[in-house]
Amino acid sequence: MKKLIEVFLPLIISFSLFAESPAIVIHGGAGWFSNMSSDEIKDLKKGLKMAADKGFEILENGGSSVDAVEAAIIILEDNPLFNAGRGSVYTSEEKQEMDASIMTGKDNEAGAVSSVTNVKNPISLARHVMEETPHVMFTSSGAEKLARDNNIEQVEQSYFANPDRLKSLKKAQKNKKGTVGVVAIDKNRVITAGTSTGGMTNKAPGRVGDSPIIGAGTWVENNSCGVSATGHGEYFIRFSIAKEICVKARYQNKSIQEASTEVMNQLKEIGADGGVIVMDSQGNYAFAFNTPAMARAYKDASSELIKIYKN
Ligand code: ASP
Repeated sequence: MKKLIEVFLPLIISFSLFAESPAIVIHGGAGWFSNMSSDEIKDLKKGLKMAADKGFEILENGGSSVDAVEAAIIILEDNPLFNAGRGSVYTSEEKQEMDASIMTGKDNEAGAVSSVTNVKNPISLARHVMEETPHVMFTSSGAEKLARDNNIEQVEQSYFANPDRLKSLKKAQKNKKGTVGVVAIDKNRVITAGTSTGGMTNKAPGRVGDSPIIGAGTWVENNSCGVSATGHGEYFIRFSIAKEICVKARYQNKSIQEASTEVMNQLKEIGADGGVIVMDSQGNYAFAFNTPAMARAYKDASSELIKIYKN
C-alpha cells in the first residue's frame, strides 16, 4: 500500500496542481492600429489589463470560465476604445448594431445575439440566451424584447455615440478593428469563449458578421480548444474559422499554435484579414493574426502578457 501511495501520490499532486491552474486569453481586435497615438495605445493596453485582471481574479477564486469571460468582456464593452458595446462602430446609417456570442465546453452550450441596438452589454444577453432559454440565437427586436423582459440593462442609442467612430465612418477608412473576445479555462477545466462586436465600420443595416455565429467567431470543444475570432466576418463565416482551428488541432494532432497559424495564413491568401485567440484543454494559449497587429493579453498564476504589435 505504502509503495502504491509513493508511486501515485506525486502523480495525484502534480495532476491536481495542473488541474487547478486557470488562465485567460483576450483580444481587442486585429488590424493596423497605425493611426493611434502612444497615449491611445497605453489606454488600450490598460483596458486589456483591466479585463485580464478581472477575469483571472474570478478564475483564481474558483469562479467558472463563463463568469470570467462575461466579466472580462463587460469591461471591454464598457470601454469606448474597443469596437463592442459602448465603442461600437457605426453602420452606414450612423447607428450601432451589435453582435455577441458565448459558448462553454461543459455541455457545448451556446448563446448569441445579433443586431441589438439598445442592450448595454450584449455579452450578458448572449449568456442569458445560453442559460435561460432553449434557443441559441436571438436577433434585433426579439433580442431587445428578451432583454426588456428579463431586466437586462438597455440604454438609449445616444449612450453609444462616439465622435471618433463617426469620423472613421465618414472617412470609411481601413482602421483599427477592435472587436473583443475572451477565452478562459477554469479550475474545473471547463473552457468558455465569448466574442462581442459592433461589426465592421459602415456595414449595411442588418448585416451580421461572424462574431455571433457559433463555429465562425466563437467555438469551444472541451477536449480540444476554445477560440474567439476577429476580422473580416464574411470569410470567418464561410470557412467556419473558429471550429476549423479546433478540428485541425484534434484530428491532425496539431498544436493550437500550428493550427491557428495555418488557418490565418490560408485566410491571408484569399485576402481576408483577421486574428484569433485560442486556448486548449491543458491551458496552453495561442495568438495568430495575419494583420500587422492584434490587441491581445494573457494571464495565468505566474505570467502576464499584453501586446498590440507583432513583436
Ligand atoms: N468580425 C467582426 C465582423 O465581421 C469585425 C471584427 O472583428 O473586426 O463583424
